[in-house]
Amino acid sequence: MLTETHIPDNSTTVNGKNRNTQGFLKGIPSSSGIAVGNAFLIETETFIPSDSKISADMIESEITRIKNTIEHLNNDYTEVLSNSQFLGSSVISIIETYQLIINDTFINNNIFNRIREGYDSESAVIGEYELQKSMFRNSKDQLLRERSIDLDNVKRRFLAALRHHIPDYESAKDKILVALTISPTDLVKYKEAGAIGIITEMGGIASHVSILARSFEMPAIIGVKDAAKIISVGLGLIIDGFTGLIIYNPDLSIRKRYDVRISDIEKHKKSLGRLVKVKSETLDKHRIKLLANIDRLDDIKSALITGSDGAGLVRTESFLAHCDKIPDEEVQYGWYREIADRLYPNPVTIRCFDIGSDKFSLGIPIHENNPALGLRGIRFLLYNRDVFTTQIKAILRASVNKNVKIMLPMVSDIHELITAKKIINDCITAFNKTDLFFDNNIPVGIMIETPSAVLTADYLAKESDFFSIGTNDLTQYTLAADRTNDLVTEFYDSFHPSVLKMISMAAQSAKKAGIPISICGELAGHAAATPLLIGMGISELSTPPALHLELKNRILKINYQESKILAGRLLQMSSSDDILKVLESEINDE
Ligand code: PEP
Ligand code: MG
Repeated sequence: MLTETHIPDNSTTVNGKNRNTQGFLKGIPSSSGIAVGNAFLIETETFIPSDSKISADMIESEITRIKNTIEHLNNDYTEVLSNSQFLGSSVISIIETYQLIINDTFINNNIFNRIREGYDSESAVIGEYELQKSMFRNSKDQLLRERSIDLDNVKRRFLAALRHHIPDYESAKDKILVALTISPTDLVKYKEAGAIGIITEMGGIASHVSILARSFEMPAIIGVKDAAKIISVGLGLIIDGFTGLIIYNPDLSIRKRYDVRISDIEKHKKSLGRLVKVKSETLDKHRIKLLANIDRLDDIKSALITGSDGAGLVRTESFLAHCDKIPDEEVQYGWYREIADRLYPNPVTIRCFDIGSDKFSLGIPIHENNPALGLRGIRFLLYNRDVFTTQIKAILRASVNKNVKIMLPMVSDIHELITAKKIINDCITAFNKTDLFFDNNIPVGIMIETPSAVLTADYLAKESDFFSIGTNDLTQYTLAADRTNDLVTEFYDSFHPSVLKMISMAAQSAKKAGIPISICGELAGHAAATPLLIGMGISELSTPPALHLELKNRILKINYQESKILAGRLLQMSSSDDILKVLESEINDE
């Protein structure tokens, strides 16, 4: 929900760019903190065919450009296919189709002819591919109609390759990124290059870009209409990730005000340092474990600094940001072993790749009309057994000190769990025939992220060693509101009574079965939610480690017995506004 912010009266109109006067924009705050810096615009590739004709002496060089690009793409696809042991059969067939398209002599000859008619390379490619697409789209054959999507994908790659489009990450150092949208992979690279904040026109608060921004402690504001049109390169910006306010060309008095705020935030953070060694428990000594969400290996350091009780969610798919294919067992073993060793003796819950939807792809576009409802999480893994088995073996090898758990993402049916456990057991049986050391009894648990998992939690609990509730997806699937879509932000509400009931039901099933349950979605880090979650029976919260001391500060002031009564009362309420009002008044009373 939007936090109401007073936008000062002197806000300028927002037409045109490069204005010199101060102005204000408003968006959805998706990662807290304040950033002050200059704008770095990430242009979205748009290809507009040119009307002007090239001269006759350019024809041969343009044809050569096209031929070189075809060769380059062909090599790319061949290289991806050469690693086909890591790809599922559906992916292989898509790549093979792309390769057939890029080598299609009929299409390519038509492109050459267009160039001979005087069109430049980009315009010739767009013209020919659009023509082919429209013929496919109008076909009576369903399969051919679907192929028009492949043509579109190949067209986009063709055009990007023609322009040698390589993002300029290094120039983003100390800058605030402004984009229509940004991929998780690009965000990782911009962060590593030193970018300090994010403004996007699209995206939801629970999208993976928002989650990553929070893990990076990088202030972010999303859903800022026309941001990339209004904000020009180098424009001075202050972004307030607490309220969603953006100030461009800030004047001296506002700068000073924000300097004071930044130093207050720093002081507050430092004062929380005193809590690192304090046990995380309620006033009446009910222990609440604070676990770390690990999105990249750097998060281990933050987890150690803040005194985390272990890792509650290692998002292994995030590690793929730097890979163009899924790494082999040895590389993965290196990642998992490093986390397990550095957090030892605390537990480390490694979630198997949750690939699909808005997550990290492998540079291999799989077209799904509804990716959030598609081949995601455990479905992807069971469909690509080699990928799953390789990962399980790497995790098993990292379990040598018995502080590792395996977690399965996006389970919606008990057969998925049973099949996955059979594959895990087969790996264990195979390992037992070797002299490898590993945890024979490695715990296997599941994410509770779908209404189906909640409604069948009693059955799933019998097959699981633990549950962890992914409230980001549970909210999306319960409320049918896309977590990545800013247009439905108001419907995407983790405090909605239906979502809270789901959490409570899952907690009860876990209790009945005697297995531990945690929350590892963003709700776990929401300060207002803490007494409610504790009162519902959650005693492990997994969040970005940067939030741990703030959460501990809160937990230390909560009475467990009272929070149970509070949760009981809130679970009777029909509106999230009323629920939040009560929870916020609890914070104010402290
Ligand atoms: C969730 O869905 O709440 C979760 C923790 O998983 P992810 O955000 O990685 O989908
Ligand atoms: Mg999830």
